[in-house]
Amino acid sequence: MFENLSERLGGVFDRLTRQGALSEDDVKTALREVRVALLEADVSLPVARDFVKAVQDKATGQAVTKSVTPGQQVVKIVHDELVHVLAGDNEDPGALKIDNAPAPILMVGLQGSGKTTTTGKLAKRLKDRNGKRVLMASLDTNRPAAMEQLAILGTQIGVDTLPIVKGETAVQIAKRAKQQATFGGYDVYMLDTAGRLSIDEELMAQVEQVRDIVTPRETLLVVDGLTGQDAVTTAQNFDDRIGISGVVLTRMDGDGRGGAALSMRAVTGQPIKFVGLGEKMDALETFEPSRIAGRILG
Ligand code: GDP
Repeated sequence: MFENLSERLGGVFDRLTRQGALSEDDVKTALREVRVALLEADVSLPVARDFVKAVQDKATGQAVTKSVTPGQQVVKIVHDELVHVLAGDNEDPGALKIDNAPAPILMVGLQGSGKTTTTGKLAKRLKDRNGKRVLMASLDTNRPAAMEQLAILGTQIGVDTLPIVKGETAVQIAKRAKQQATFGGYDVYMLDTAGRLSIDEELMAQVEQVRDIVTPRETLLVVDGLTGQDAVTTAQNFDDRIGISGVVLTRMDGDGRGGAALSMRAVTGQPIKFVGLGEKMDALETFEPSRIAGRILG
């Protein structure tokens, strides 16, 4: 997921930790290389800049150059700063607010981002790991195939889907899902909203209407991690208009450069809660900042 970045940073820190004493210039040079590595990984410019500055301030403040293992100390500061940029103050990004049954989860995102697949993966996870009774409903009235796709996934993973009624609007389906979830004794109901190829007014207005009807406990944006900074821009747009509570980055099994993961929280203020790591229904992981930071630093 972060192979290139990890390799680049590994090289910088290898050199740094091999040296005994470090001058401030050594640290500066290393951090300049870190900045370039971040930018090459498609981390947004302000995030890369702030990151390096924060590390520099801490390194100077802690008199790194006078310490016994200066190189390792710099690596530790970089690690902690990575955790900070990934998580902010949120220590448990994978946690979902789904206590009061039936808890609505709104799944939003562009078409092709992996929204329907992720809805299935998350439903399976809630069922298997949290013992929740989950109901899924597709609101994609423009694409009957998408509705069928969710129904097929439901059968595959053993999660109920709201029966498809032809001719209903997204709002009507949302109301029916809420009713069914309430009277059917479900813990969670997940609404897979319609996607579009790009953000448009009709899409946003529809998602807003649905949001106002169900008052979601979680609004999760699904974005394709391979799209780098576009993923971050998409998240920003959805957050401005709809208000999201977290992000799921998909296709992190691919050869993306990982920049979206690093910029997301700093730019949008929203945490990444899960990452998609493949097409299979169990290819979903919680996004654990310290583990990811460890992975990046190799
Ligand atoms: P939607 O239009 O947003 O609902 O997208 P879909 O859920 O239909 O997914 C589009 C394609 O991406 C499908 O072929 C999925 O199997 C695939 N996909 C979804 N998530 C992932 C992921 O995390 N990794 C990989 N490699 N493929 C994924």
